[in-house]
Amino acid sequence: MKAAQSSRRGFLVRGVGAGLAGLASARAPFAGAEAAPAAAGEWRNWSGNQRARPAAIHYPESEAALRRLVAQATGPLRAFGGSHSFSALVPSAGTLVSVERLAGLLAHDGATLRATLAAGTRLAQAGELLAAAGQNLENEPDINLQSLAGATATATHGTGRTLQCLSGYVRGLRLVLPDGELVECSAVRDAELFEAARVGLGALGVLSAVTLQNRAAYALRERTVVMDFDAACAHVEARRDSVRHVEFFVFPHGGTALVKEMELTDPGADPGPQVAAPTFDENVALEFAAEAVRRAPWLKGPIQRLVGLFVAGGERSGPAHRIFPGQRTVAFNEMEYTVAAGHGIECLREVVATIRARDLGVFFPVEFRYVAADDTWLGPCAGRAGAAISVHQYHRQDHRELFAAVEPVFHRFAGRPHWGKLHTLAAPALAALYPRWDDFLAVRRRADPRGRLLNPYLRTLFGVRA
Ligand SMILES: Cc1cc2nc3c(=O)[nH]c(=O)nc-3n(C[C@H](O)[C@H](O)[C@H](O)COP(=O)(O)OP(=O)(O)OC[C@H]3O[C@@H](n4cnc5c(N)ncnc54)[C@H](O)[C@@H]3O)c2cc1C
Repeated sequence: MKAAQSSRRGFLVRGVGAGLAGLASARAPFAGAEAAPAAAGEWRNWSGNQRARPAAIHYPESEAALRRLVAQATGPLRAFGGSHSFSALVPSAGTLVSVERLAGLLAHDGATLRATLAAGTRLAQAGELLAAAGQNLENEPDINLQSLAGATATATHGTGRTLQCLSGYVRGLRLVLPDGELVECSAVRDAELFEAARVGLGALGVLSAVTLQNRAAYALRERTVVMDFDAACAHVEARRDSVRHVEFFVFPHGGTALVKEMELTDPGADPGPQVAAPTFDENVALEFAAEAVRRAPWLKGPIQRLVGLFVAGGERSGPAHRIFPGQRTVAFNEMEYTVAAGHGIECLREVVATIRARDLGVFFPVEFRYVAADDTWLGPCAGRAGAAISVHQYHRQDHRELFAAVEPVFHRFAGRPHWGKLHTLAAPALAALYPRWDDFLAVRRRADPRGRLLNPYLRTLFGVRA
C-alpha cells in the first residue's frame, strides 16, 4: 500500500495563505491570537474559554496515591484529562486531579481483542500501544489528544453509521469512589455503577483504568473531495450505509463542502507515518482566514469560496490510528448536538440556512457525522442512531451570537448536546432527552452522596442545589 498525500494541496494552501495574509492585515496578525496561557496554579482548557484557580492541582503517580488523594482532599474535587472540553465540566475552586501519570497498556488479549489501558493514556499513545499489540480502536474522533478517561466520560465519537462512540466499546472500568474505595465494574459486576460511569462526566469517581473492546489492527484509506453543498448532502446520504466512515464540513457562506470518507484497506506494507504535521503555511492560512473574517465579516463569503476552490481533495492511507487524527491548530469554541440520524441532513440544512439568513460572521465550517446507537445511559446516541452536527467559532470571536442562533434549531429536532461542548440545557430539559436520566442521577447520589464531585456547572446539569 502506498502512502499518499496530495502534494497539490500543500502548494495551493500556501497560495491561499499568502493571499489571505494580504487581505487580513499588513501588520503582525497573530498578536494576541493565542488565548493567554494558564498562569501558575491556574487551569485552562484547550480553547481558553474555561479557566479555574483551584486550591490545588494533583498528578498522582499511582493508583494508591490517587485513592489517598481522593479520600483526603477537602472541598470539591474534579478530575481532568486532556482539558479539551469546551463546557465547564472541570473548573472548580477546590482540588483538581489529573491521572496523566497513570498511562499505558496494562493488559491485552489477542483472542477477545480487548485491552485495558490506564485512564490517563492519551488517544494518540493508546493508538500506538494497541497497534503494537495487534489492535486498533474501532473508531476515533478527529483529534487524538484527549485522555481515555475524558473521552469516554463525555461519549466522544468519530463518524460511521455502524460505529458507536468510544463509551460504547467500554467493557470494564476501575473507578476510585469519593471515599477512596477502588471499584472494578463491568456489565456483570456492579453493573449499575458501570452503566452510569461509561458516560459519567467525572461525577461518579475518578477513573484509573478502562477496558475496551477493540478490533484487529487495520488500515484505512482516506479520500477528501470538495463539492457544492447540495451535492455533498446527497452524496453523504447515499454513502451513509456503504462507507465505513463518511463525514463532511460545510462552508455555509461559500456554498461548498469538504467530504471525507475512510474505508478499510489492505494493511499490507507501508507502515510509515502517513500523517504529515501541517506545514507552517497551512496553519498560517487557517489563522489568517479566521482572523480576516473576524476583522471584516463581509469577507466570509469570498474566503469560504476560496476554500472550496483551493483546498484540493486528497488521498492517503495507512494504519488506522495514524489516519483518524487530524490537527486542530487554530483554536475555536464549539457547540454540537446529535439528532436522530434520519433527520440529520434536514437539521443540517436548517442550521446552514440560519447561518446564511442571519449573515453570521463565521469562517469555520459546520461538521456533520454519523454515530451508531448504543446502550449507554447518557451517550447522545443512547438508544438511537445519530447525526452529530458541530458548529465552530474562532476563539477570538464571541461565539454567543452564532450558538444562540443555531441552538433552537437543534432543540426543534430533539437534539442531545455533546457533554464536552457548549450548550445551554439544564436538568429538566436534559431529563426529557434521556430515558435513563433518573437512573443515572440515582447512581450518582449513591456514589457521591455528599456531592464532593460536583461543581456549579454539574449542579445545573443535574439539578442539584448547592
Ligand atoms: C480540537 C478538538 C477536537 C475535538 N474533536 C472531537 C471529536 O472528533 N469527537 C468528539 O466527540 N469530541 C471531540 N472533542 C471533544 C473532546 O473529545 C471531549 O470534550 C473530551 O471529553 C475531551 O477529553 P479530555 O481528556 O480532554 O477530557 P477533559 O476535557 O479534561 O474532561 C472531560 C470530562 O472527563 C472527566 N474526566 C477526566 N478525567 C477523568 C478521570 N480520570 N476520571 C473521571 N472523569 C474524568 C472530567 O471530569 C470531565 O467531566 C474535541 C475537542 C477539541 C478541543
